[in-house]
Parts: sequence; C-alpha cells; structure tokens
Amino acid sequence: MKLSEIYAKYNKLIFSFEVFPPKNGDTQNLFEELAKMNQKKPALISVTYGAGGSNRNTSLDIVKELKNHLKQPVMPHFTCVCSNKQYIEKYIREIEELGITNILALRGDEPQEIDVCYRDFKSALDLIEYLRKHSELEFAVAAYPEKHPKAKTFDDDIDVLLKKQNLGAKVAYTQVFFDNESYYKFFDICSKKGINIPIIPGIMPIISYNQLKKIVELSGTKIDSKVMNYFEKYKDSKEDTIKAGIEFASLQCEKLIEFGARGMHFYTLNKAKSSLEVINNIT
Ligand code: FAD
Repeated sequence: MKLSEIYAKYNKLIFSFEVFPPKNGDTQNLFEELAKMNQKKPALISVTYGAGGSNRNTSLDIVKELKNHLKQPVMPHFTCVCSNKQYIEKYIREIEELGITNILALRGDEPQEIDVCYRDFKSALDLIEYLRKHSELEFAVAAYPEKHPKAKTFDDDIDVLLKKQNLGAKVAYTQVFFDNESYYKFFDICSKKGINIPIIPGIMPIISYNQLKKIVELSGTKIDSKVMNYFEKYKDSKEDTIKAGIEFASLQCEKLIEFGARGMHFYTLNKAKSSLEVINNIT
C-alpha cells in the first residue's frame, strides 16, 4: 500500500516500527523480533540505511526478507549524502524491482571527511527532486520537533519541512523526543505555516539507561532531569528499566493521542517487546 493510502484514513491509530541492520550481522535474531512485531499488524516496518551507504547490503537484505518472506509492508530509509547519481539510480531501481512503493528520503549525517564525498546531493530536498523525476515511489521525510542540531533556527527548519511537503512528501516522521511539549509546539507552528501532512511522533521505549544517555548526547534530544533521574533509579536492573520505559512511553503516547496524533512511529532498537506492550496499553 502506498503512504498516501496508509495515512488516508488518519482517524484510527496507525503504527509503524523502525529497525536497523544489526552491527554484529545477526539478522536471524532480528527476523525473529520482526515476526513478533507482525502480531500488531504494523502499517509499515522501516529499515534504516547508513549515511554514505555504509550498510547498504545488509539494509537491502532485511528489506528483501521483509518483502519476500515475512510478507510485511516495508519502507526502506535512504540517505543521499556522499552518494553519486549512478549509485542512487541503481539503488532506486533495485527497490522498485522488489515491488517497494514507499521510501523515507533523507540526507543522512555528513561524515567528518566531507571533502572526500560525492556532492551530487546536498540535502534531502535534492533527493526528493530526483525521486519525483525518476521514480514512482512515494516518499516520507524526517522532521525535528526540537530543531535539527545544525539548522540555523527553528523557523528555518520548519520552512525546510514545508518545502518537502510542497515537493510531494506524503508524511513526516519525527526525530525521537521525550518531551511532548516540543511536539505540541512544533505541530502548531507547522499547521500555521500550512503543513498538513501527517507528522508522526517518533517514540522510543527506553530499554537501557546508558543507551538513553547516548541518544540524548548524539541527537541533542531534550530530556527533563526528572525523567533522567527516573531512569537512573533503575539503571542496574535491565528488567526494571524496560518496565519503566514501557510506562513512560505509554503515558507519552496517551497524551499525544489526546492532542490528536493518530500515528506512532516506534524506534524499536530491534526489540519487539516494549513497543508491543506500549500498543497494548494504549489500544
Ligand atoms: P535535510 O532535510 O536535508 O536537513 C534537515 C534540517 O537540518 C534542515 O532543516 C536543514 O536546514 C538543517 N540542516 C542540515 N544540515 C545542515 C547544515 N549543515 N547547516 C545548516 N542547516 C542544516 N540517518 C541515517 O543515516 N540513516 C537513517 O536511516 C536515518 N533515519 C532517520 C529517520 C528519521 C525518522 C529521522 C528523523 C532521522 C533519520 N536519520 C537517519 C538522521 C538524518 O539523516 C539526519 O538527521 C540528517 O542530519 C538530516 O537528514 P534530513 O533528511 O532531515 O536532511
């Protein structure tokens, strides 16, 4: 199903799950987790893709497995930074030949040694322009309720999202956030600027305190010290951390639903349990 059809009936809850190619190459374990995720009949499973195509083959293998064997609706992420036109063309054809209809179109984080990169595509907007002209794929895009760390201003960042919508993006998935106020404020400003595509909150049920610390450091995501302290309390017990993560994410989703959000994009960290329990709690 195309993104526009999935989100056309945006009056019931729509769930999507994000997974990444495991660094240790243990895709078997991931496929078992994906089979569990299937219990909730997600509208989409999205599969991340390394900037510069660092994990191109594993990412594509997972997409193929989802499409051909697990028979799940799959949306590959695709980053264009450091890629040249031929490389992008080849990947897009491969995706289309698999019968994939949707893609998450991204720039990707620029590596430190940017001068050794191809510069055919400088931003997600360049990739979107390319997809519009050269493929039938529908595309989703990224959005940042707490501003992209490199964007000059919050306003500039939202203007980029508006451009993405005007170029045909069907839906936006947000960067993970833990403070709903950021989403509410972002959503309101987007609406005032004329952005009316679904802006799907990115939810990450916490499963490890150290991982939480790393995410906050890397993405610049805001987190209240009270929340940090709450998870710190459980840091020595994996089981208690997972339980606390499920409780926190469930409450977060309940409030988002009250606000009007109808889609949830779960950053699953390749584990089904927490996201499935959050869904049980909110449905
Ligand atoms: P763009 O839309 O081109 O830029 C995003 C915003 O940042 C724009 O507002 C732009 O103005 C501003 N900006 C970016 N760079 C600069 C700069 N140098 N100077 C000034 N302003 C700047 N990354 C991966 O590598 N693989 C993935 O699979 C992946 N999946 C993601 C999924 C989601 C839902 C999200 C939210 C992010 C994901 N990312 C992924 C991270 C993403 O690639 C980075 O955040 C990247 O830096 C920006 O990508 P973009 O598509 O948002 O870029």
